Amino acid sequence: MDCLFCGIIAGKIPSKKIYEDAATVAFLDINPANPGHALVVPKKHAENLFDADDESLKAAVIVAKKVATLVKERTGCEGVNVLQNNGKAAGQIVSHVHFHVIPRKQGDTVVISYPRKQTDEKELDAMAATLTKKRSAALDEEILREMGRL
Ligand code: AMP
Ligand code: ZN
Repeated sequence: MDCLFCGIIAGKIPSKKIYEDAATVAFLDINPANPGHALVVPKKHAENLFDADDESLKAAVIVAKKVATLVKERTGCEGVNVLQNNGKAAGQIVSHVHFHVIPRKQGDTVVISYPRKQTDEKELDAMAATLTKKRSAALDEEILREMGRL
């Protein structure tokens, strides 16, 4: 498989690794938004959030917290963004699921911005219905099982 991050995980492509355990690796982003910008990457290949298994994702989020804490302590940043892109439309460039950990300071040059749209209760109700009442039977079953009701 021709995957950049799998190459990094296998040690075939160099990286500035800052954390590694059995399931997850973290290394510095080659084009950082700010110094200390790191990527937290499950070792098991999956293209995105939808394809990745829950165990890999749970492990990666816990590592994202560790890395965010490390970066905050060592760079003296004031805040941290944890970002995760899925699909070209969402800005995903590398097709191996990963979390960005970006140190932030007041007034830095990083722009993470979107216009906040107006809505109303009717629209919000309609969307909530779309996302709940019309969901598939399979998803309903999964949610009920997770809630211990099945
Ligand atoms: P994304 O847009 O979420 O897919 O982000 C991919 C990130 O991977 C970008 O921020 C790139 O700068 C970073 N990147 C690409 N190639 C490498 C590499 N060889 N080592 C470290 N980071 C990389
Ligand atoms: Zn991969």
